[in-house]
Amino acid sequence: MSIAPLNILVMSAEMVPFAKTGGLADVVGALPKALKAQGHDVRVAMPRYGRIDPARFQLETVVPPYPVPMDDRTIPAHIKQAKISSSGGDLPVYMIDNADYYEREGIYMYEDDADRFIFFCRAVLEGMKQLNWQPDVIHCHDWHTAIVPNWLKTIYKHDPFYANTACVYTIHNLAYQGIFGYRVLEIAGVDEYGFIAHPDIPHLNDVVDFMGRGIYYADIINTVSPTYASEILSPEFGEGLDPLLCDRRDRLYGVLNGIDTELYNPATDTYIAAQYTSTTLEKKLTCKLALQQEAGLRMSPSTAVIGVISRLADMKGFDLIEQAAEPLLRYHDVQLIVLGTGDQRHHDRMNELHARFPHQVATVLTFNAELAHKIYAGSDMFLMPSRIEPCGLGQMIALRYGTIPIVRETGGLADTVRNYEPASGLGNGFSFQPYEAMALYTTLIRALETYRYHDIWRQLVLQAMSADHSWERSAQRYTELYQQAIAARRR
Ligand code: ADP
Repeated sequence: MSIAPLNILVMSAEMVPFAKTGGLADVVGALPKALKAQGHDVRVAMPRYGRIDPARFQLETVVPPYPVPMDDRTIPAHIKQAKISSSGGDLPVYMIDNADYYEREGIYMYEDDADRFIFFCRAVLEGMKQLNWQPDVIHCHDWHTAIVPNWLKTIYKHDPFYANTACVYTIHNLAYQGIFGYRVLEIAGVDEYGFIAHPDIPHLNDVVDFMGRGIYYADIINTVSPTYASEILSPEFGEGLDPLLCDRRDRLYGVLNGIDTELYNPATDTYIAAQYTSTTLEKKLTCKLALQQEAGLRMSPSTAVIGVISRLADMKGFDLIEQAAEPLLRYHDVQLIVLGTGDQRHHDRMNELHARFPHQVATVLTFNAELAHKIYAGSDMFLMPSRIEPCGLGQMIALRYGTIPIVRETGGLADTVRNYEPASGLGNGFSFQPYEAMALYTTLIRALETYRYHDIWRQLVLQAMSADHSWERSAQRYTELYQQAIAARRR
């Protein structure tokens, strides 16, 4: 079915390559390009932080200073533009500029963050009028832009410019809700409507919860995997907003993030010892031996190499890894390579593990993109037993490199890794449900046992490599959501 091209405005606090603190920036860096390639007119808006060098990114001023309503006055903004190239042509990135708000060292964690992002959002809505470019849909991401759906249903409700504009709101991280006091309502010009209320969420009656407002007002809400979209309806994952999400479940969806299939491609990856495809899998062994050598481990083709590439954080399941590693390393022919950085507690535990098993464990506790590629290519298995995982990229990258993921069935991990079934031969990895070290341990044993059968393992690797986690697929899904949002708005 061919789809009429839409005017899509993507609003975000972060975007690769301009400003990044997490996965949000990757999504906003990739999704608009894939949408553009599908023929839509896509434009992105973000703040022009001080760290974004105008010369390096060839920023051009496209809108001179114009007034932006804030509280009971106006503050000037102007818009600079960068261009991102995609296979569908260049797409503009509008950067809202105001020295007082954004000419600072960092991106977040300032006392006036609420003001900074309200200003950003208001400047974007007013700025589109200056540009006379009318979006069919505004795609907002995380709390920083959650006031937009609120405004479209309140102060912009009767504004002809936005009369037909729908709003999709994407939750990347429910843990950061953007919670502030009453004053923020005045700054945003929505004080006459007061707090939003929910009988089962007492705090919504006396604070401004931006994330809550985005969920409350958006035409369509989504998060970054189908399983996480259903998990957040429960108190365990809902971060206090599950009753509101339950009320809105008829418009809540999960769309898996994609991965950059050009950057992560074993056939062209220049970081790895030998490039390979599913028909030249013997070269994956060359990558494995090179990795073992670089990591200071014995070069042994038959020893299973398990890779871990992760933030060293509780949610990533490091306590399970720490408990299961001891019997695993003691009784099995296995090597563990850990690349990660994060909590000191986990750094210490990983260093202890290396000290206890120096011939079997290698730890690199820094951020190292090149080594990450080598681990994705050179490992036999990729371990990711997260407690919470909204989407997860590591397991999708591992699949692409034919490295078999071992994961806990949660969030995006449950949506991308199918547990191997010996009877049918189906599956692309190994997974377990209860968040218990014993469950992880027995799953590792299942994987190691399967690894001994070369033909079976090879088949598993081929099944893993056949997965399609490109952005094209996700962009298609987002286009459907945009249309649903437009239909909901019309209703
Ligand atoms: P999250 O966004 O929660 O950290 P994801 O799995 O979605 O987890 O994404 C993590 C990304 O960061 C993956 O691409 C992974 O390869 C990369 N990564 C994590 N830690 C490191 C590290 N220490 N060095 C290099 N890359 C890393």
